[in-house]
Amino acid sequence: MEQTQLDEYYMRLALEEAMKAARIDEVPIGAVLVYEGEVIAKAHNRREHDQHTFSHAECVVIREGNAHVGSWRLEECTLYVTLEPCPMCAGALLQAGCQGWYSVHGTQRPVLRVLSTIFLMMNGLIIGVK
Ligand SMILES: [Zn+2]
Repeated sequence: MEQTQLDEYYMRLALEEAMKAARIDEVPIGAVLVYEGEVIAKAHNRREHDQHTFSHAECVVIREGNAHVGSWRLEECTLYVTLEPCPMCAGALLQAGCQGWYSVHGTQRPVLRVLSTIFLMMNGLIIGVK
């Protein structure tokens, strides 16, 4: 399968996660973490359900990804997320060294989206925008 097809497949999985969030009245955001071509974590927003500040989809997959690879470093991982990460998640992505790939179709407030995008671009974390 070509990389473009793989990207679409992973993004489709992230969108499925976002739909799960919508069904439980969470902000509809989904994320998938890929390591060596394998999906090692997928999650949706669970902040209301968990009543936890860090339960954004991106942070959940980062946490699960850390457990999977046995390291806080995720340089070899690619994150697929249905919209631009917020500043909190962008910081976590930077700390993990994870690459980013995300959709521009989202619900995030424009100012935060622009700041997160600039932050990710400055740190070389964006590898693609769909
Ligand atoms: Zn976030």
